[in-house]
Amino acid sequence: MPSVLVVEDDQFVRSALIRHLTEASHTVRSVGTALEALREVAHFRFDVVVLDLGLPDLDGAEALKMLRSITDVPVIIATARDDEAEIVRLLNDGADDYLTKPFSVEHLSARMAAVLRRTRGAGAQAPPPRVLQVGGLFIDPLRRQAELDGTALDLTRREFDLLAFLAGRPGVVVPRRELLAEVWKQSYGDDQTIDVHLSWLRRKLGETAARPRYLHTLRGVGVKLEPPAAGPVA
Ligand code: CA
Repeated sequence: MPSVLVVEDDQFVRSALIRHLTEASHTVRSVGTALEALREVAHFRFDVVVLDLGLPDLDGAEALKMLRSITDVPVIIATARDDEAEIVRLLNDGADDYLTKPFSVEHLSARMAAVLRRTRGAGAQAPPPRVLQVGGLFIDPLRRQAELDGTALDLTRREFDLLAFLAGRPGVVVPRRELLAEVWKQSYGDDQTIDVHLSWLRRKLGETAARPRYLHTLRGVGVKLEPPAAGPVA
């Protein structure tokens, strides 16, 4: 049962998160300030911390830095600011992932599961599941078949490899050089190669870069695949 520390000063958002995470059988503790959060992580062990950036006592970046100085617990940033530069900076400063408010509990759960898989899988690598599922996407790496909402996708070899690689790490931002190395088996190359294949794949998934559902490009950072967000609750 994963234990979660929710750091959020908005009482409404906080109780919604606590309720939903508890229903999803997580152990939840919550605080409303960064200083309380520091006290919590110093005294208890958590599997993941969900950290609101707009806290009353400390700037979010400052709070993250202080958390990182005492613990390496995975931190998911929850931010109302859709500020790419800030998000990139926080990811570089040790955040494991981020969510832009308003986000759904399903979305948060998917991110938490991905973060937990990564941190727990660091030692013991579990064998990959036979069929990968991300929302309505099903990918069978052995048969090299993929379907979306029950309809088979007609993918090229490279598109399939790209999709399968990303689907193996749902919610995780995969850097472009990692895609090049893992999917193209190249140590360097042209960003355009990736962009072109991504746009073909997008088209086959029935989405566009401007209106992404599954495939999200974070400029200057990388690409990730995740289930489309359901209705916002927080
Ligand atoms: Ca806040």
